[in-house]
Amino acid sequence: MPHQHFGNADSAITIDLDAIIANWRYIDGLSASTTKTAAVVKANGYGLGSCMVATALARAGCELFFVASLAEAIELRTAFQQTGHCELPIMVLHGIQRGQEADFTAHHLEPVLNDLEQISRWRLYAAKTGLTLPALLHFDTGMNRLGLDTDQADWLIQNREALNSLKLTYVMSHLVSGELIDDPVNARQLTSFNRFHRSFSTIPASIANSAGSLLGSDYHFSMTRPGIALYGIHPLEDLDTPLQPAFEWQ
Ligand SMILES: *Cc1c(COP(=O)(O)O)cnc(C)c1O
Repeated sequence: MPHQHFGNADSAITIDLDAIIANWRYIDGLSASTTKTAAVVKANGYGLGSCMVATALARAGCELFFVASLAEAIELRTAFQQTGHCELPIMVLHGIQRGQEADFTAHHLEPVLNDLEQISRWRLYAAKTGLTLPALLHFDTGMNRLGLDTDQADWLIQNREALNSLKLTYVMSHLVSGELIDDPVNARQLTSFNRFHRSFSTIPASIANSAGSLLGSDYHFSMTRPGIALYGIHPLEDLDTPLQPAFEWQ
């Protein structure tokens, strides 16, 4: 069993990579085979070591990875190069900030574009370099302040040329209360996301985090994005699933 130990003489955390792989396979098995299951390893793999977790999942067949920031993405790209997973997409949830353009292309990273400013920044760089650049488009369907708001989204739908030279790999949104299985907010977000998706119907879509993966096939689309569930922490209350605890304090 590939256990990893961290810490000092007084306390240590033991990480069970087999449990993380089993949890990813469990989430992957909930959706159809046409739905890809990504791994969200932001915040240093929720504190457990993003590179170690991600390379283990890459060996297990996971093909898509999300981190929060450019710095995390470069670290992961370097780890992937050392383990022979050079080609795997790494997607950056915070999107692209001013001055980061060359780093994104040098390390083959895909920004999640969260507003019109990020879209125009990436598009201007595509025009300047003559490259077609990959990106995800994030719609805010739950007033969580990340992603295009309704006005920006409507503007974009009317002004498609603002996306010229970009290759949209996914349109996505994020659930604000997927943890509450009966919360009507989930269904409202799904409806609003489906409305956006109709305007980008040829682009693969994604809305589910860990909790969303457990909400059923309406939420699965082309890709699910579990994070916390990979570590064995159950996102929904009072629901039994075979997620395995992936770490332990001593
Ligand atoms: C953090 C995050 C996830 C993963 O969420 P979990 O609740 O940890 O599964 C998925 N998508 C986005 C956009 C995120 O920010």
